[in-house]
Amino acid sequence: MILPSRCIQSTKKDALYPSYDAIVIGAGVAGLVCGAFLAKTGKKVLIIEQHSIPGGYCTSFKRKGFNFDAAVHHIGGCGKWGIVGRCFKTLAIEMAFYPLDPMDHLIFPNFSIEIPADLDEYTIRLQDRFPLEKSNIKNFFQEFVKLYRATFNHEKSQIIDKYKNMTYRDMLDTFFFNDEIKMILSGQWGYIGLPPAQASAIGMCQMMINYLKDGAFFPVGGTQEFANAIFKKFIDFGGHIMLSCKAEKILSDAKNARGVKLQGGREIPAKLVVSNIDVRQTFFELLDGKLETSFLSSIEEMRESCSFSLLYLGIGKGADLRKLKRGFYHTATDASYRDAEWLYVSIPTSICPTLAPQDKQIISVVVYLMKEKYKDITNWKSFKESLIADTINRIEKYLPDIKKYIEVIEAATPKTLERYTLNTDGAAYGWEVSVDQIGDNRLPQQTPIENLYLTGHWTRPGPGICAVVSSGWGVANLIMEKWR
Ligand SMILES: Cc1cc2nc3c(=O)[nH]c(=O)nc-3n(C[C@H](O)[C@H](O)[C@H](O)COP(=O)(O)OP(=O)(O)OC[C@H]3O[C@@H](n4cnc5c(N)ncnc54)[C@H](O)[C@@H]3O)c2cc1C
Repeated sequence: MILPSRCIQSTKKDALYPSYDAIVIGAGVAGLVCGAFLAKTGKKVLIIEQHSIPGGYCTSFKRKGFNFDAAVHHIGGCGKWGIVGRCFKTLAIEMAFYPLDPMDHLIFPNFSIEIPADLDEYTIRLQDRFPLEKSNIKNFFQEFVKLYRATFNHEKSQIIDKYKNMTYRDMLDTFFFNDEIKMILSGQWGYIGLPPAQASAIGMCQMMINYLKDGAFFPVGGTQEFANAIFKKFIDFGGHIMLSCKAEKILSDAKNARGVKLQGGREIPAKLVVSNIDVRQTFFELLDGKLETSFLSSIEEMRESCSFSLLYLGIGKGADLRKLKRGFYHTATDASYRDAEWLYVSIPTSICPTLAPQDKQIISVVVYLMKEKYKDITNWKSFKESLIADTINRIEKYLPDIKKYIEVIEAATPKTLERYTLNTDGAAYGWEVSVDQIGDNRLPQQTPIENLYLTGHWTRPGPGICAVVSSGWGVANLIMEKWR
């Protein structure tokens, strides 16, 4: 289902209501899902989005006929029993997906490995490779699946208590002796943005088991189609949206949100407000810090996740890209991942050929650099130029003649991500997924202001499309419970 772009537009000004039951600030995936559930009840719901298209990081852009995904490369849990699958079924959203199999590749300087889409198959392959760790591998995955299930059960559980203060590295050390297997089982840490010695064991578990049990998928037509499908359903349910429209203030007194003031001065009253945007922006800019000092200082102390740079290449006819596997290209040589950096490469046209003109292809690269390396950059233009040159050089190692096929080059830096989404410093995953910022330690969806809620990757359960779908759905449930 490819939506014509004319469908993606703001509600006409004269159709807007004088006031709303709920306003959602931000049309990221979490905001769209929350908005759709609320609009489905028949209440008056408005979404306000500063960008001209919905989706936040889940958007695409076109250059010379190539349809590039801006950030997201694949989505977990889109099968029948996964969170996205169940959410779409409940909202009657039709969307076709390609399942990814193999799920990924990990390419290290000295060896590489394919990660199959199925957990049992992955277990067998690892057991074959590490016969001395055979039973440890079985025990580890059994424990990991148990932990994953417990994260959905909101009651207290022993397994959550056991791992809630543990880093992923500590967890691996309790199961394995061999450094290489720890390296492999940590190789996808880029999906939560924190190396194993700092990443929360629960955060890694949610991400890995989500992909290995519930599958990794690519939306037919690209990631914008995923956001558009939810957007369209929201509109079908009678929801209103204002695109290219920035929320400047949340109108409130100490205990109550009363609506939203837009850039330009217009005020729109509402009975409740849901914020799908950067939490610092929500509390320090939109609310002018009008909250208890202890609450504000706890937010000041929290740490944003890493950001990324991206390279998008449109490749002309005749290039053979088979030697470039989809997955992580690490510089790490041991399981500590100390000072290690990586590239994540994907060739979306090998999954969905219609993203490019006929017989042409797309290479898309996410580049991770440690946060500290971005700190002192002042000349982003020259940073972008070297990013492009360095990344193409690294691809040439696998495809020596790639340069002669390149028709389109685009790049994005953390500054670009920040400009399009207003996430502080282009944070890819909201707050960092460390032990002190995940699970119960991540901000709850309810705030000290009774009718102001949070949704998205700055709140629970965490980052990634599947998690923010769950966040949007969860906050809508909280609100609908109240309405009932
Ligand atoms: C490079 C990159 C690659 C990624 N790859 C993947 C992947 O492959 N799979 C995956 O699952 N996850 C991936 N992620 C993470 C995932 O994209 C995010 O966790 C998720 O999209 C966050 O969704 P969200 O709804 O919380 O908010 P966002 O996507 O951040 O959306 C927030 C929205 O609010 C709007 N907004 C902000 N301020 C205002 C304001 N004042 N007024 C009005 N509107 C406002 C923004 O314009 C934006 O549209 C990736 C992230 C990055 C950066």
